[in-house]
Amino acid sequence: MNYKCFHCDKTVEDSYTQTRVRCPYCGGKILCKGRSNVTKVKAR
Ligand SMILES: [Zn+2]
Repeated sequence: MNYKCFHCDKTVEDSYTQTRVRCPYCGGKILCKGRSNVTKVKAR
């Protein structure tokens, strides 16, 4: 399961949250659990 950073809104891989719950991009400590079906609109 992937997580989403609360600050930069980037997807954080599960491997990062295993050891330390911190966003690798901005260093934010608040991560939201992402679900398989993301409701956010994103162009593919
Ligand atoms: Zn972040």
